[in-house]
Amino acid sequence: MGQVRDLAEALWSGSLSTADAHPFTAFAGLEEYRPGLAFVSAFANVVAASTGEGLVLIDTGSFFSGEAIREQLRAWSTAAVHTAVYTHGHIDHATGIGAFEAEARPRGAAPLRVVAHRAVGARFERYRLTAGYNASINARQFRFGALAWPTEYRAPDAVYDARLDLDVGGVRFELHHARGETDDHTWLWLPEHRAVCTGDLFLWASPNCGNPQKVQRYPRDQAEALERMAALDAELLLPGHGPPIEGASRVREALTTTAALLRSLHDQTVARMNEGASLDQVLASVRAPAELLGRPWLRPVYDEPEFVVRNVWRLYGGWWDGDASRLKPARDEALALEVAALSGGAAALAARAEALSARGEHALACHLVEWAARAAPADLVIAATRAEVYTRRAATETSLMACSIYHDAAGSRPR
Ligand SMILES: [Zn+2]
Repeated sequence: MGQVRDLAEALWSGSLSTADAHPFTAFAGLEEYRPGLAFVSAFANVVAASTGEGLVLIDTGSFFSGEAIREQLRAWSTAAVHTAVYTHGHIDHATGIGAFEAEARPRGAAPLRVVAHRAVGARFERYRLTAGYNASINARQFRFGALAWPTEYRAPDAVYDARLDLDVGGVRFELHHARGETDDHTWLWLPEHRAVCTGDLFLWASPNCGNPQKVQRYPRDQAEALERMAALDAELLLPGHGPPIEGASRVREALTTTAALLRSLHDQTVARMNEGASLDQVLASVRAPAELLGRPWLRPVYDEPEFVVRNVWRLYGGWWDGDASRLKPARDEALALEVAALSGGAAALAARAEALSARGEHALACHLVEWAARAAPADLVIAATRAEVYTRRAATETSLMACSIYHDAAGSRPR
């Protein structure tokens, strides 16, 4: 077996955890899975299929990994790239194409064609509009330091709405649209290879369907798409992140369990909303089934179920959480000063936060220490307590999203 297959086997069996080999950092190079079908394991994976008219790429990597991916692919095939499909417009999947276009130009080769769902164009527009916001949230989420968010994008040459079948050099690619992690997702069925390319609808982690800093996600749509993929009886699953899964029964299990987790979170949340519950009551009662969350490919190492619940609430219910005091709340500083005065001062609040943190009541401790720091912004002892409380909290969390936000808070002042 090659390195990618070894990684897949270790992760599937649970002998290696996604907490230690995170699907966003497991770079294991290129491996051929079928004659004419290669998989490049990278920050975001790339699939390449040989056809009679050249290569078809499914995703392209990012502007910072595209060249390395291109070099790996060129050791496998020298054929020109005919078509690239973006599974969605996230920059780690859709901005590596520059390396392949730069390669094609001096060869005088025909320009390659980019195919994607119609909504990719609107995403690129939004990315240009919110470049500053995206630079700051992604720097925080991935701990990149200052990241220049791109403002130039290679737009698709051809778009589709619900379904598109491509025949390139005698090989068939069936493109299916689904909302899920994004509104512009494409998953593909390659019948000759009996392979399904999931994009980020499967990514070796509890689904990215709740991200606290990003736009709306669609858990029910994602579950439906995963169920449709499962019905194909694919023998190979090529995901957006993490290694491929081989064998019809494993592929079906990976897809159906991920769908079941999303359906459970969605349906529990909607049921509570229909009973008139507030968001706080929903969060207190909805639980991800432990049997699903314990699967090696569903651990909450990136996003997490609590965030999916909030996302379902936002999808159907808007942003207000049901607490009247939070409809038009007092400013954070005013509330902090009032609570600190009632508590006998900001130092007393911070001391209580420290005690709660020490006995593992991290959520409460964070509220109290945040009030203390806002009430006494120049107090260095309180600032140090705050940093300690958030550092301890980060150490108890499993998801990259929560850990990153708590680490960022530990290293900065209240925002
Ligand atoms: Zn991705």
